[in-house]
Amino acid sequence: MKFLITGAAGFLGSALANHLAKEGHLVRGLDDLSTGKEENLSDEVHFTRGDVNDKTVLWDLLQDVDVVYHLAAKVLVAESILYPREYNHVNVGGTVSLMEAMRDVGVKRVVFISSGAVYGPQEEQPVNERALPTPNSPYAVSKLAAENYVNTIGLHGGIETVSLRVFNAYGPGQSIPASHAPLIPNFLWQGIRGGSLVVYGDGTQTRDFVYVDDVVKAMTLAATATGIDKEVINVGSGKETSVISIAEKVKELTQNPADIILTKNDPGEMRVRANIYKAKKKLNFVPKVSLEEGLQKTLEKDPRFQRED
Ligand code: NAD
Repeated sequence: MKFLITGAAGFLGSALANHLAKEGHLVRGLDDLSTGKEENLSDEVHFTRGDVNDKTVLWDLLQDVDVVYHLAAKVLVAESILYPREYNHVNVGGTVSLMEAMRDVGVKRVVFISSGAVYGPQEEQPVNERALPTPNSPYAVSKLAAENYVNTIGLHGGIETVSLRVFNAYGPGQSIPASHAPLIPNFLWQGIRGGSLVVYGDGTQTRDFVYVDDVVKAMTLAATATGIDKEVINVGSGKETSVISIAEKVKELTQNPADIILTKNDPGEMRVRANIYKAKKKLNFVPKVSLEEGLQKTLEKDPRFQRED
């Protein structure tokens, strides 16, 4: 098959692009390299540096493509609170540009990588796709708005669409920004250096952590599954893990002698667990990698986490 992946040089995009290229598919990748890195991609991926808002580039790259995976986005929740306009421009505007270009060229299917963040705080856990989203950051709002644009432009343009609401993905190659880095790479980075692991709140807040290989599996299944047009589907591990228990696991794995520091002044935080029944039913998706295995693999495969001694 022929694929276009936007955001191909990023953490999830490159894992998907390299996997599909290795399977023998023709894979084009688009990325503006604002956070992604071209060296994440294998030589088999046909890479173009460009902006997802640039329709001229899109028209060109979309020729003869069977399925588009749309991952290009700005992804930092805290940054989105400071720069909501920018998040709207890239995450919503970029999605609209892509959908228009797909409609113009006549591409038949798009798999949009949305986020579990669209749900916001939810009383009922595990959260299923029927829950009413209460997004509580511009990032989450932008992903929800993008889902709606994907569906409506798809509806009027004869494009099959599906949105995968991915929960907290982790694995080798995830970026570690200087501030507000995602939890797992941040802890591993601190852990291997013997630094303290700082937990905001009392650590009882939970997340649904899903290993990158499982996310790639769900994405590949979504390219060909039938009966998923206009659906939103959760992609997570289906397991709930407290932040404090992640810190303890990382401390043990990295043999870090330093303390775990709790900053209990934060208000009580939310609990998150994905209900993945729909992904099992519609995509035949079963997550395979346990948290212990995933952390171990991340430590082993990511050169940034190799010890110098
Ligand atoms: P990432 O930052 O590594 O990947 C995003 C990529 O998009 C980067 O390579 C970046 O350079 C590119 N990009 C940004 N703006 C662009 C633009 N205007 N034009 C072209 N490319 C642009 O982050 P990631 O974690 O790999 O996330 C990929 C997608 O998955 C995002 O859409 C994100 O919302 C979604 N997602 C990720 C997670 C997660 O836990 N990692 C969870 C839920 C959803």
